[in-house]
Amino acid sequence: MSNLVTPKVYFVGRTEVNLDDVTRYLRDSGNEVFQESIKDALDGGISTAEILCSLFAKMCYKSLSIGQNKNVTKIRDIKDNLIGCFKTGHGSIFEHISFNFIATDCSRIFTHELVRHRPGMAYSQNSGRYIRVDEIDLVFDPILEPVKDEVVELMNHIELKYKELEKKLDLDNLKDFTIKKELTSALRRIAPNGQSNEIAFTANLRSLRHLIMVRTSRHAEWEIRVVFEQVYKIMKEKYPLMFKDAKEEIFKGIIEVSGMKMQPYENHIPSS
Ligand SMILES: Cc1cc2nc3c(=O)[nH]c(=O)nc-3n(C[C@H](O)[C@H](O)[C@H](O)COP(=O)(O)OP(=O)(O)OC[C@H]3O[C@@H](n4cnc5c(N)ncnc54)[C@H](O)[C@@H]3O)c2cc1C
Repeated sequence: MSNLVTPKVYFVGRTEVNLDDVTRYLRDSGNEVFQESIKDALDGGISTAEILCSLFAKMCYKSLSIGQNKNVTKIRDIKDNLIGCFKTGHGSIFEHISFNFIATDCSRIFTHELVRHRPGMAYSQNSGRYIRVDEIDLVFDPILEPVKDEVVELMNHIELKYKELEKKLDLDNLKDFTIKKELTSALRRIAPNGQSNEIAFTANLRSLRHLIMVRTSRHAEWEIRVVFEQVYKIMKEKYPLMFKDAKEEIFKGIIEVSGMKMQPYENHIPSS
């Protein structure tokens, strides 16, 4: 029997920071004083991943401590440094940390849209060549509520027909795995676009900020908006500083995120 499902997101990992070697580097480079900034940042709820971005940003200007670069007369703490990086659009430093997610109960419509995003991304998704269709769970857009019963009926019919074809082709008893795989792959063609599956994806922080904006946009499709609203909520709760510049609006019951600066000189209007 076919079930109607909605996508779910799991936040399963992120860049791990080796604080021991951060300490060693700071000692060797004469920047021990930056340890105090790290301690303050940790006490203020800033994660080690965010601290790493600030460390790398400050390395660019030798501004981890006073005295390393004569042009630097004042040192910003980690929080202000990160806010400054967002304001100036120094986005490349946010490419250093990545976050790992699993989306389940999501369709091939969603996964096809997701994998269009290239830099800073990695994907692993269910193989339709290996995995046999069992029950056809369908990712259901609530806009179809008035015809829900017909949709379920149609799915049950496809499921039934799929099983009949499997039997006719004697898929269960085939010994040759290559042929089994070819038939499994060929048969999936009758499954609907909206059939539920799973995808694991990794995004660096810069890409993630971009994705959250373009994929929660009111112009994006319902399902990808549902997924990236979940991603945004998870990220904002855990890393509020990283989304401090985000503007939120609710559109059709889902958060639409905009306004985060991605590039230096973005929207810059020359004064002359
Ligand atoms: C609302 C909406 C509707 C869409 N409709 C369609 C559609 O009808 N048909 C269709 O085919 N696609 C459609 N897309 C997909 C869209 O065209 C992009 O392929 C997808 O959103 C990936 O985003 P991106 O281009 O920002 O690239 P990403 O891969 O996310 O890259 C992020 C940024 O990096 C830069 N970048 C990445 N790769 C390159 C490169 N090779 N050269 C130069 N700069 C690069 C760009 O600045 C880019 O914005 C739609 C997307 C949205 C959000």
